[in-house]
Amino acid sequence: MSGRSDELVKGTSRIQYDVIVIGGGPAGLMACIAASEHHVHCALVEKGDKLGRKLGISGGGRCNVTNAKPLPELMQNIPGNSRFLYSALTRFSNADIRLFFEQLGIQLKEEDRGRVFPVSDKASTVVNALVREVVARGVEIWEEQPVERLVTEPIPIQDNATSASRSSAGQPSHRVTGVLLRSGQVLYADAVVIATGGCSVPQTGSTGDAYPWAKAVGHTVVTPYPTEVPLTSPEPFITSRQLQGLSLRSVDITIRNSKGKALTTENGDMIFTHFGLSGPAALRCSHYVSTAKNKNPSEALRAEIDCIPTLSRDELFAAFKKAKQEEPKKHVENVLTRWLPERLAAVALDQAHTAGTTQMGHLKNQSMLDLSDTLKAFSLIISGTLPLAKATVTGGGVSVKEVAPQTMASKLCEGLYFAGEVLDVHAHTGGYNITVAFSTGHLAGNSAAEFAKNRIHPVGNASP
Ligand SMILES: Cc1cc2nc3c(=O)[nH]c(=O)nc-3n(C[C@H](O)[C@H](O)[C@H](O)COP(=O)(O)OP(=O)(O)OC[C@H]3O[C@@H](n4cnc5c(N)ncnc54)[C@H](O)[C@@H]3O)c2cc1C
Repeated sequence: MSGRSDELVKGTSRIQYDVIVIGGGPAGLMACIAASEHHVHCALVEKGDKLGRKLGISGGGRCNVTNAKPLPELMQNIPGNSRFLYSALTRFSNADIRLFFEQLGIQLKEEDRGRVFPVSDKASTVVNALVREVVARGVEIWEEQPVERLVTEPIPIQDNATSASRSSAGQPSHRVTGVLLRSGQVLYADAVVIATGGCSVPQTGSTGDAYPWAKAVGHTVVTPYPTEVPLTSPEPFITSRQLQGLSLRSVDITIRNSKGKALTTENGDMIFTHFGLSGPAALRCSHYVSTAKNKNPSEALRAEIDCIPTLSRDELFAAFKKAKQEEPKKHVENVLTRWLPERLAAVALDQAHTAGTTQMGHLKNQSMLDLSDTLKAFSLIISGTLPLAKATVTGGGVSVKEVAPQTMASKLCEGLYFAGEVLDVHAHTGGYNITVAFSTGHLAGNSAAEFAKNRIHPVGNASP
């Protein structure tokens, strides 16, 4: 199949589709599948030589296809504009995603924290199934064809309307008519879905290409910033690599601003690196660090790690007192290693201004209180995050204020739809971003196909 217009616009090389989807990630692939359910002519344009490249490395290469948690919990795991996503997530839910893959013969399994993976533990199982389905549904795939920009035309102002009245009535001023490929070729379409992703891990093809296209038709683009990304710290015990590679299980990390206000507390595993903190709990904090730094780059932030969330401060203090009574000759550093790895215990003793060789019998009450505080709130300065290129997810993107949540349609450009990470939406890792990509992709593909079918075609260019 080569576009519906080969037979319609004889003697020209004009190639016309009903729907063009730009970007072959999870959002774009799902948009194609949903659009093709309406029996429209659909093309997928991908700049890389491989579809689903980022999906293929997600979830540690096992592809975390969705998360099984109920909708309210899903929403809680989407710090970036979850309310906007409510319609998309209810119309094509995590249960629908699971059913979709199971109907394609892909067996799924649920792991800890609701994360859903293919039984094969291979991302290629998921990517190949999606691509097979797109091909089986007759979607025409244009690979290694970067889109340069959208092709649009102004919508003539009605006699009784002004440009200002139209914009205040929320009516679009432009309509999309196709896409210009970098090769110079134009592909025409009644509807275009932009699913080009964000701009993190750019080697996967997500390089923020669509932001200028969206701006050109009047959209606001919230400046992209890194999320789900490791945190950086200038503390000497970090930069000296004293703690590098040391991991802690199921700790609470609290991020505090310069006034001491807690911006978030996130639970999970973490690891000290040579530049700061990484691991799931640290990544979950990064949205709050990035947002605070976006507001005020000089904001002084601290992370406090509750190394033992299962014990209260009073219980820890009681445990120290008991050790003092029962093991008076024992060095405090040896007591501390009951709860902390040795290297961290050494830094914690520094923070509590206590010599590790102090015998428990000589430990003052104040020192035991200080140590209890340090274990409950091991503190370090947070200077920011690693850059966007290293982030798992992009925060910011096309503002959701100018996109209709029930359809994913642009409010500014007729026939234009958005799906996935190109939008100013982002979630924690754990399958939530991929769920957002599938749900918005499904909604955008459906809406674009319905729009294309209902569009009143100019004479001689009617839908076959
Ligand atoms: C290492 C890693 C691990 C991850 N793990 C998880 C996880 O466990 N759970 C989770 O929920 N999320 C995870 N994510 C995030 C998740 O993969 C993304 O949110 C998701 O892939 C976004 O889907 P998308 O379709 O919007 O964009 P993308 O997957 O980025 O796809 C966009 C596509 O558009 C194409 N494109 C871009 N510009 C153009 C152009 N000009 N012309 C044509 N095509 C273009 C790109 O080549 C790309 O194929 C992970 C991400 C990374 C990098």
